[in-house]
Parts: sequence; structure tokens; C-alpha cells
Amino acid sequence: MTTLTTQPVARAIDGRASAEKVLLQAQQQVEQLKKQGIQPALAVILVGEDPASQVYVRNKLRAAEKTGIKSLALRFNAQLTQQELLATIDKLNRDEQINGILVQLPLPAHIDERAVVKAISPLKDVDGFHPENAGGLLQGHSVITPCTPLGCLLLLQQELGDLSGKHAVVIGRSNIVGKPMASLLLQAHCSVTTLHSRSRDAVTLSRQADIVIAAVGRPQMIDASWIKPGAVVIDVGINRLTLADGSTRLVGDIDYESVSLVAAAITPVPGGVGPMTIACLMQNTVSAALSHAKTAART
Ligand code: NDP
Repeated sequence: MTTLTTQPVARAIDGRASAEKVLLQAQQQVEQLKKQGIQPALAVILVGEDPASQVYVRNKLRAAEKTGIKSLALRFNAQLTQQELLATIDKLNRDEQINGILVQLPLPAHIDERAVVKAISPLKDVDGFHPENAGGLLQGHSVITPCTPLGCLLLLQQELGDLSGKHAVVIGRSNIVGKPMASLLLQAHCSVTTLHSRSRDAVTLSRQADIVIAAVGRPQMIDASWIKPGAVVIDVGINRLTLADGSTRLVGDIDYESVSLVAAAITPVPGGVGPMTIACLMQNTVSAALSHAKTAART
């Protein structure tokens, strides 16, 4: 007689522990740089009072402090004009003491996000969103890699080792997660399928994957029917659910309970991709400081 298993088989991937390792490495590099008289510094710009953005900025500043990176928080009210924001970025671009510039997105509707991202020097664009960095990633010679996809890749390599030949399905095609994620996986020699809102037979395609990365922004949309038994699943989604009693709870795009019955490993929300994103931001800032120091030594 066969008995159906209802026990979770998936291992929970501990994003917090992995992020600690990345942060420790960044911290050691900062110590080395400081011995050479170089203080890595990150400027974080927040426009408006979006509560989620405030939490993200606070967490980034906390991680910078922990890593030994000097941080400069520039907070503006939502009435800031695009002109004023561009002038602030221009000043930071020219400030030799600043290695990384991050503008927390989303911006208020009257500000053109693309113009703002483009205004940041590609060498200080620690989010990796500048068209030059995005194009570099596509061509396989990126200078700075976007933090969330980089964090996902590190988690996958830690879980599976060499990713060569694996079939990866990325659900979502945004410029900040889905597209750069697909490029990184291609560079890691995966066969990559990208799914989006107009994909046909998305569930069938997803069920063929060894690796599934969900970056959709729809709470618990992906259940076990999307997942091949033994696949590794990375949940990028961060969605806030309001429960019947009025309390709120963070959930991902993956239905964790259902998927953990079939997957080999899965990232939880919270405690999965989120901490890795912040750790990779610190790593990108340190890498930018290292490359600025090298350029300065040559001139
Ligand atoms: P976007 O809204 O920019 O993109 C969502 C993507 O999902 C789009 O490409 C859209 O397709 C696709 N999509 C929507 N519905 C479906 C569907 N039914 N089937 C398949 N694809 C669908 O979101 P982001 O990429 O910015 O973010 C995604 C999630 O990740 C959000 O929850 C966000 O909060 C989270 N996030 C988490 C981070 C972290 O550090 N953990 C960092 C960044 C984001 P189409 O293009 O056709 O519209």
C-alpha cells in the first residue's frame, strides 16, 4: 500500500545565515581598506514617507554600520522636485568620499525613475540598475550586479554548487529582479525560461524546472502544482497580508506550506532573499570602494 506524504520534505534555506557570511566578508574587506586609509561610504536617498521604504532604508543603514561602511542618509519630503533630486545625485557623483549611491524606489509619481537611475554614476550605482550596468550584465561583463538577483544566485550556488545545465524558470520580468536574474542564470550556464503575465501554460513550464525563482508580487500565487518534485525554489516576493484580526503578516509569492511538500529546498519569507539583498548591497559598496581606490592609485 502506498501512503501519500503530507510531511514537508523541503529544507528551509537560511538566508539570514548566508547573509551573515557575506557581511563578514565585506566587513573584513572594509578593515583592509581602512588600513590603507580608505573609508568606504554609501549615500542612501529616501524621498517621501512610504512605510515599507522607510523599513528597507533603516535595514540598509543598520547593515552598513555593522559592516563598517560609513553611511549618509538623505531624507526628503515627497514634494522634492526631480531637478532637486538630480542636483543632489550630481553632487554625490562628484564627491570622492562617496563610493555608493542608492535611491530607494519607488519614487513619488512626479519624478521620472528612469532619469534618476540614469543620473547616478555607473561606478557608484551599487543597486546595479543603471543602463550601463544592466547592459554589461546582459553582455556578460557587468561592473555592478543588482543585489537581489545576485543574492538569489549565491543562495542557489550554495544549495546546488555548479548550476551548469540546470533548467531554471524565472517568474517575473521586471528590470530590477526578473530580467537581471535570467541573465545571471544564463551566465551560470543554466537553460533559462522567463514567465510573465502573458505566458501560456505557465504551470506546465514551471513544473519542468530544476530551479524556480518567483518574483511576481502576488501573495502565495505559486503552489505545489507549479513545482517539480526535488526542485529548488527561491521566493523573492514580499507581500503584506492583512489578517481577519487586523494584524499583518509578510508572505512571499510561493505558497510555502504547499510547495514545501514537493521541493527539495525553499527560501522562507521573511528570512530568505531579503537579508541576502542587503548583504549584497554592502558587498557591492565595498567592491565599488576597491575599484575607486585602484583608479585613484593609477591617476
Ligand atoms: P514587478 O511588479 O515590477 O514585476 C512583476 C512581474 O510579475 C511582471 O513581470 C509581471 O508580468 C509578472 N506577473 C504578474 N502576474 C503574473 C502571473 N499571473 N504569472 C506570471 N507572471 C506574472 O515586481 P518586482 O520584480 O519589482 O518585484 C516582485 C516581488 O519581489 C515583489 O513582491 C517585491 O516586493 C519583491 N522584491 C523583493 C526584494 C527582496 O529583497 N526580497 C527586492 C525587490 C523586489 P508582466 O511583465 O507581463 O506584467
